[in-house]
Amino acid sequence: YEGKRGTEGVVVFTESSAPTTSPGLLIQSELRLALEADELVLHYQPKVDLSSGLTFGVEALVRWQHPSRGLLGPLEFVPAAEQSGLVEPLTEWVLRRALADQQHWNRRGVDWQVSVNVSARNLSSGSFPRRVKAILEAAGARPEQLCLEVTETALSANADAAAAAIVELSGMGIAISIDDFGTGYTSLWQIRTLPVAEVKIDRAFVSDVTESDHDRSIVQAIIGLSHGLGCTVTAEGVESEAAARWLRLTGCDSAQGFYFARPRPWPELLEHHAGLPPVPLPIELSDLSET
Ligand code: C2E
Ligand code: MG
Ligand code: MG
Ligand code: MG
Repeated sequence: YEGKRGTEGVVVFTESSAPTTSPGLLIQSELRLALEADELVLHYQPKVDLSSGLTFGVEALVRWQHPSRGLLGPLEFVPAAEQSGLVEPLTEWVLRRALADQQHWNRRGVDWQVSVNVSARNLSSGSFPRRVKAILEAAGARPEQLCLEVTETALSANADAAAAAIVELSGMGIAISIDDFGTGYTSLWQIRTLPVAEVKIDRAFVSDVTESDHDRSIVQAIIGLSHGLGCTVTAEGVESEAAARWLRLTGCDSAQGFYFARPRPWPELLEHHAGLPPVPLPIELSDLSET
């Protein structure tokens, strides 16, 4: 069989090709079943307050416990879900699971906010804020316990609809975060006009921050800009103590990254968290000047 390029860059198959030979289609039908069979799992990564060293929230990151291919990361199936109608049931599944897990850790005396990633299609659907409200109510969670992470791409995809959804969600009390900031095309105008609580600096700028003057300049600029607009700043992809220290000194509010913890199921996180304070704090300014 042969694939031919369609006019819009879509691969059109000739009659001799069975539709199941397209990996995209295969993963879509499998994912539909996976949602029903509860094959998806959430791992959580701590968000650490850089001034206290305490975890104040966690980000939910979806994985697929595939029956034959093992544990798949989101980059292997979220794009396929986004191209079909599946990202709406996927996001709703993640929201329900995350808020249910949150009730469990709440009962153990842990009050972490939970962050959930949303896609462009969620924001442009029109019904998303209403569905989120229903899911919050069913879970018995307060809107302040939830943060929704929106990428710059999702904001620019259908800008007016996305902005309306963000205003509505924020009006309900949900925190809105701009994810992967610095890699997309969010205009400063959007950030200025939207009720954004948090800006997350993309890890592309953070991973080499202690080695690169340019990255340090970019990170400093994003911190200043975000604070000027009333947003808190989280650095993603913090992999070293040196980076954590520099970010703290530079006024970054919080951080996430393998240095603190890798994403993992929440019970493991609770155990690890109880045993090990993740940041060696307090960090004195004199310590910082040596790094
Ligand atoms: P993201 O929201 O920017 O999530 C951060 C990603 O960086 C995660 O990858 C995380 O494991 C990884 N990461 C965290 N700390 C470090 C570090 O120190 N170093 C490095 N190299 N990587 C680090 P993951 O779990 O593979 O997720 C990738 C992307 O998939 C996410 O990027 C998010 O855009 C998307 N995603 C994850 N879960 C969901 C979901 O439930 N729904 C939707 N729509 N998208 C999701
Ligand atoms: Mg995220
Ligand atoms: Mg991110
Ligand atoms: Mg990222």
